[in-house]
Amino acid sequence: SKNKGRNTYTFFNTELAEYASSRLDTEIALRDALNNNEFELFYQPQICLKTCMVVGVEALLRWKRTGGQFVSPAVFIPLAEEINIISDITNWVMDTAAKQAVAWHDRLHMWVPIAVNLSGKDIHRDLPQRLKKVQYDNDIDPKTLVLEVTEGSIINNIDVAIETLEEVREQGYSVALDDFGTGFSSLHYLSKFPIDKLKIDKSFVDNIASSPKSAAVTAAIVQVGQCLELKIVAEGVEDLQQLQVLRAMGCNIAQGYYYSKPLPADDCLQFIEREKLA
Ligand code: C2E
Ligand code: CA
Ligand code: CA
Ligand code: CA
Repeated sequence: SKNKGRNTYTFFNTELAEYASSRLDTEIALRDALNNNEFELFYQPQICLKTCMVVGVEALLRWKRTGGQFVSPAVFIPLAEEINIISDITNWVMDTAAKQAVAWHDRLHMWVPIAVNLSGKDIHRDLPQRLKKVQYDNDIDPKTLVLEVTEGSIINNIDVAIETLEEVREQGYSVALDDFGTGFSSLHYLSKFPIDKLKIDKSFVDNIASSPKSAAVTAAIVQVGQCLELKIVAEGVEDLQQLQVLRAMGCNIAQGYYYSKPLPADDCLQFIEREKLA
């Protein structure tokens, strides 16, 4: 009936309004998160499959809102990109990772390679200058930072991205292609990208022990990477079976809950001291 239709309309309208206001709340809080010191980096160890030693870590951003509620980066990173505060956040991430590298260097007398995630909007002509500032402010060896970029963020602006990434590699930083295999133009562009590492997406790793077809595709990715002289990192490794399959394929490095969840800096240092840094 007409009446029912109107109620339905009202219902959706309320839902929408609630959604919009919670989004607006989140947006307002996110704009203040940097100033309010609500961000923290967690670090997930990456393990060499030959030596079983730690060869680096990935820095993963955590946002703890006032009140203690954690928000997933999968939610707030896209929002930060939309409201154009992502470059401030990335600057904070790079600077905080650099400070952590210095603190760990003091303890271990080695530079721990720390991978930071870049957004597509960061892969621009000013990135070398931003990295120079991070380097001079913290007095780091550039080899301690690894920049993780996704295929999608390169392809949007491919010529600028290739120039930019070539320049940061000349500065001494290394570059990893993240979430490999989830894009569409992977193989065509792979040989053109100025990168050092290839990260095989978790969605491949999930099925390698159970599905021969997934295993075949993953093995092919590992081989292509090897031919291009890239180090191959498998992400999202959760069990020993997956690890054994990846090792047999010749994958170099693994990261995932099997070894460790992302950890606060102090816990990660303990992990590194226990398992040893290569
Ligand atoms: P990503 O770069 O692909 O990071 C890997 C994600 O997988 C992380 O989720 C990590 O906690 C999770 N993970 C690692 N090992 C396992 C595992 O064995 N099993 C399962 N189920 N998950 C695992 P997280 O920390 O929630 O980050 C999600 C995404 O948010 C990241 O995906 C990345 O795209 C983005 N992100 C995180 N930190 C930053 C940052 O500082 N800047 C930018 N631009 N993006 C970030
Ligand atoms: Ca990543
Ligand atoms: Ca990834
Ligand atoms: Ca992923």
